[in-house]
Amino acid sequence: MLACRRLNSLELKGFFIPLLLGIDIGGTKVALALGDERGRVLERARRPTNPTEHPADDLARIAEDARALLARADVTPNDVACVGVSAPGPIDAQGETLLHPPNLPGWGEVPVRAILADALGLRVHVENDANAAVLAEWRFGAGRGYDDVVYLTASTGIGAGLVLGGRLHRGHAGNAGEVGHAPVEWEGLPCACGQRGCLEAYVGGAAWTRRLRAITPATSAVARIAGGSQQARPEHVVAAAGEGDPFARSEMERFNRYLARAIVTLAFVVAPEVVVLGTIPASAGEALCFAPLREHVAEQVWPVLGRDLRIVPAALGSELPDYAGLCAAREGLETRSR
Ligand SMILES: [Zn+2]
Repeated sequence: MLACRRLNSLELKGFFIPLLLGIDIGGTKVALALGDERGRVLERARRPTNPTEHPADDLARIAEDARALLARADVTPNDVACVGVSAPGPIDAQGETLLHPPNLPGWGEVPVRAILADALGLRVHVENDANAAVLAEWRFGAGRGYDDVVYLTASTGIGAGLVLGGRLHRGHAGNAGEVGHAPVEWEGLPCACGQRGCLEAYVGGAAWTRRLRAITPATSAVARIAGGSQQARPEHVVAAAGEGDPFARSEMERFNRYLARAIVTLAFVVAPEVVVLGTIPASAGEALCFAPLREHVAEQVWPVLGRDLRIVPAALGSELPDYAGLCAAREGLETRSR
């Protein structure tokens, strides 16, 4: 009877029952969110990831966090339909095992789904973080209302995911949409993935930071804002370009041109209605990134594909991890029912 009254009170607050539990395991932060498939969040928690050489112990701590979150919300595991995990790739095609994720040093092959399912006694569904992010922006962010959405985020690396025809597109072996590692220069710069000429080697945050430390003039506003050329990072370029600094402007132009190459390829291959861009582009904004980017894309893409193509900033910002986890959970339910 008690459980019945409590669920009713959640429903009265507008929550859709049963609930979903989202866990976003990032390189720096773990974010947990208890909510529903409509994106309403009942309870959330965040803490530093601090990955160790013992991923099973790290995951046991995450399971403890999840139990604490449920207790805080006065919800029992029985009230949770599915746990969704958004985790850094690569992940095997079955969605079982993380395969040496570069963003979690010390983690090798980690059967994350089975470990968390055993620890929590709940159904667990794992998506790579880029897939979870495209689902989140599609259902609750800048991609809402469209059927064909590309999400591309330029942070440390480049993550990308595709929703095509109103469904997550996984492709063969589940890694479709890894645009960050499609070449923008043949035989170009070496990439952390082992290939050459990848988009990530040109506009990924880590690669761009290395470049900036090698070439930033000491007299530029980038160096002044960063506190020296050796501290220069992409966000300092964004800030200095906003002041009109010529070096920063030329770096933004280079960034936009390389990003445009990837978007042109995407436009021809999957003809999205909207391309949603996170992190660096979202912080650079309209004048420094989106307006020139749209122009570069329009120069290279057929009008029939480019005319209605929207290129927009991501909308979820710092709440993305909450929605990514919840969307992974919802994907788990829908995958089961298919
Ligand atoms: Zn690469």
